[in-house]
Formats: sequence, structure tokens, C-alpha cells
Amino acid sequence: MNAKGHMCMATSCYIFTEQLSPTLPIYNSGAVDWLSGLLIAILGGLIVDLDHPDSLVGSKLKFLSIPISIIFGHRGMFHSLLAIIGICYLLVEYIEPTLNASIQPFLIPFIIGFISHLFADSLTPAGIYWFYPLKYRVRIAIAKDPLTQFMIYAPTLVYAVYLKVFELF
Ligand SMILES: [Zn+2]
Repeated sequence: MNAKGHMCMATSCYIFTEQLSPTLPIYNSGAVDWLSGLLIAILGGLIVDLDHPDSLVGSKLKFLSIPISIIFGHRGMFHSLLAIIGICYLLVEYIEPTLNASIQPFLIPFIIGFISHLFADSLTPAGIYWFYPLKYRVRIAIAKDPLTQFMIYAPTLVYAVYLKVFELF
């Protein structure tokens, strides 16, 4: 799926998670935290393609995307649950002490965005290895081209925004 689709899916999943778990702190700390969480979810949804130097994020961070693509390949380890665990570990273990502030409330939106990306890529014919290093490819293959991808992410986003707006008024 392309970057636009991943941004829409991350936004949708962020709102759907709020509907399912409205008591999560990120959803109850005011509008600024809610919007920060949304931006982090979108970032989480885009960062998965850091294993591709021509992706939206990969093209901006070539010093990272080129070595990652060489080491892991596109849609390899970086497109798996193992990557989420590894990245969250690095964030908590190394970034949090550096910032000297708790980043844990923002890990949830990051994970939501990341998982939305894995889910969306599972809908494409190439699929992904959710359980890397197990070589079991998850592939539903209903999002075969840009049009069918659009027909998935656009109504999903419209429905999510409808839910959010309905909740506000
Ligand atoms: Zn991807």
C-alpha cells in the first residue's frame, strides 16, 4: 500500500482503538495529547517502510533506509511483530532516558500505527511475514492495485472520521 493509504489506515485504526478502549490515557489527556497521539500513529504507520529507500520516510532518511534495506530487505524483519518489539525496546531503553521524560503513553499510538501498516500490507498480493523469522507469509490479496487499495482505505477513513465526529457532537 502507498504512503497515503498507510496514513489513512493509521488514522482509522487510531480512532477505532479509541472506540474500543476509550479509557487509554492518550485519549483522555486533552486535545493536544489526542492530536499528538494521532501524529505518532501516522508516524508509526509510515516508519515501517523505512526498509525501502524509495518510500516516503525512507527517501527522507536514506542514511537509515539504505542499511536497513540491505540488512533486512523490503517487507522482511522490519515488517513484523519482532520489529515493533525491537523498536519499542530501543525507545524505552535508550530514547526515554535521553529525553528524561516518559514516552510510554505515546508507545500505544506508535504501535497502533505500526500494526495498521502490517495489516494494510497483508491485504496486498505480496503480503508480509508477521511472525518473522517464521517464513509464514500472511497475504489476503484483496488490495491488488491503487484503485482497490483506495477502495479499502478511503471508506475506512470516512467511517472512522464519522465515528469521531458523531462522538464529539
Ligand atoms: Zn510496507
